Amino acid sequence: METDIVSNIMNIRQRMTAAAKRSGRNPADIQLMAVSKTVPAERIREALNAGITWFGENYVQEAREKIPEIGRDASWHMIGHLQTNKVKYVVNLFDWIHSVDRLELAKELDKRAAQNQKTLKVLIEVNVSGEASKNGIEPSRVLELVRQISVLPSLSIQGLMTMPPYSENPEDARPYFIALRRLRDEIAGEHIPGVRTKELSMGMTGDFEVAIEEGATIVRVGRAIFGERQ
Ligand SMILES: *Cc1c(COP(=O)(O)O)cnc(C)c1O
Repeated sequence: METDIVSNIMNIRQRMTAAAKRSGRNPADIQLMAVSKTVPAERIREALNAGITWFGENYVQEAREKIPEIGRDASWHMIGHLQTNKVKYVVNLFDWIHSVDRLELAKELDKRAAQNQKTLKVLIEVNVSGEASKNGIEPSRVLELVRQISVLPSLSIQGLMTMPPYSENPEDARPYFIALRRLRDEIAGEHIPGVRTKELSMGMTGDFEVAIEEGATIVRVGRAIFGERQ
């Protein structure tokens, strides 16, 4: 079992490097995050031993069980939809929240982070496709939300995150990745104090190479590392 995670990671890193070079980017500017939802702690530890330091989790209850078991050698990222009443648990578990999509949630995160004397890094999740089933704020309202969050002292905006509609064909995701990058560039042009716009969290098992070609700085890969989920 150990070797498949190690060789999967090597294979993904090679594909990431190739995609970066194709698009004239430095491979060192792209972070591989292992998405470990449903993956037991011992498999996560194998990925940690293979050099992965960033992990993404989707479910608060699962994260509360697993993260303390693995510990802080890793950097933990909340990538799933977050209910406001669960915020009290996440502030001490996670270093970054990728799924901030409304002011009410941001205010609660800010309050709890302040209580814990911590600054939380956050990304704004954007529903670029407009699909009703998707989380995220609509593109036309992102700039306003960024301005509102920028004044919250214990949150630090780092960029944007998106999840395109599911498709077998990775090329179908390209327009959504381009749209997220353009939105990011637009926000960067506003020079809002305290707002960083470097990060674009986009690309998963099926489409991370396309995402890198379009500017991803963080790719969130689950199945290609750990295998199919149950
Ligand atoms: C599950 C998940 C991923 C990883 O998906 P894979 O297809 O397993 O790579 C990435 N991002 C989010 C938000 C997810 O929920």
